Amino acid sequence: MKELIHKIRQIFMSTRVIENHVKYQILCAGCSVIHFVFMVLMLIGKVDFLFVLNVLATLFYLLLGFVLSSKEKYKSLFIAAFIEVEINATISSIMLGDGYEFMIYTLCLIPGAFYLAHTWPAEVKNKYGISVIPSISTLIVGIMYVLVDVMNAVISPVYAEESILKLRPIFHYFNIMIAVVLLLAFSILFALEVRYIQKLLNDENSRLGEIASRDPLTKAFNRRSLYNIINEEIDNDEHLKFGLIILDIDDFKKINDTYGHVVGDQVLVRVASVMKENLRENDHFCRWGGEEFLLMIHGSEEDYAIVAERIRDGIEKQVLHVDETEFFVTATLGIAEYQTGIQIRTLVDMADQKMYFGKKHGKNQVVK
Ligand code: GH3
Ligand code: MG
Ligand code: MG
Repeated sequence: MKELIHKIRQIFMSTRVIENHVKYQILCAGCSVIHFVFMVLMLIGKVDFLFVLNVLATLFYLLLGFVLSSKEKYKSLFIAAFIEVEINATISSIMLGDGYEFMIYTLCLIPGAFYLAHTWPAEVKNKYGISVIPSISTLIVGIMYVLVDVMNAVISPVYAEESILKLRPIFHYFNIMIAVVLLLAFSILFALEVRYIQKLLNDENSRLGEIASRDPLTKAFNRRSLYNIINEEIDNDEHLKFGLIILDIDDFKKINDTYGHVVGDQVLVRVASVMKENLRENDHFCRWGGEEFLLMIHGSEEDYAIVAERIRDGIEKQVLHVDETEFFVTATLGIAEYQTGIQIRTLVDMADQKMYFGKKHGKNQVVK
């Protein structure tokens, strides 16, 4: 029971869709109940022919619900139910005459057809087209509705005894009410399905956006994402104070040559994690390319220098392993402070020059 309530809640929260076999079994059970009610009313109204017809229809839906829906033959199930509704409503209307509203059920077949066809498995949808069967169904419903209306005006009812005439208002309002419920149910199911698909698309979009904005190896932002972040922040705050830091791992080629590319990759991941650990939430970094990273640090000149030194120190202290062998890495960092109006590309070049100065003067240092 708890599980059922949880599932229903998920359906209304659009994190789950109703499984097809459950949906069809509920529909078949509902149709069975409706025909059972008709069966009882026909018995009371002494309409023996329609009583038998509704006994058969009750059994037909029980069989349909259990046999076809468990075999996942949803299209056949819909067609069988469609034919039953059309035949039953037509025969009942012609035999009893106006005012019983049996044909109103055939109108529910139109949204029902479009909704159910929409949820058929992909191979059925592709083969017959999502709207071929619903369109043909709509055409048949329209023609039959008019035809029965005309016939009712021309032919006198077969059963017009007092026993059934007394029940006419019951049929009239019961049928209208059930038809409204069916129309409402199809509309709600359609809306929930659309919401579920919308949510799937949104989740997939965010996932793709996340993939597109990050470097697959280190999971750091890529160049484009950091550019976007910097430009957005500059646009939002004309007094923005920040510095850019270029970080380049020292003698990285030697690490690759000595321990191999796989170890080189692991070093890149480790260096990225040191940066992540030492940055405040509003500061950012990206993989600029190869073994170089670009950091955006908010605040004053002192702040950039402190963060840069903390990161340099953190990298130097990392103990790396290849089997039993320990090794260490260092990095050289260059800082440039943002001035209003300066191009980001120019600022990166300035930081780069500082970093190269450090490379020429012993590496493993921060150059302001
Ligand atoms: P320096 O101290 O002057 O920076 O020397 P360096 O060896 O670090 O610099 P260099 O530019 O000579 O070499 C960088 C190396 O980084 C060469 C390239 O193969 C390696 N590299 C670039 N991207 C990757 C990567 O994704 N994985 C690995 N394992 N190596 C990479
Ligand atoms: Mg380099
Ligand atoms: Mg390098």
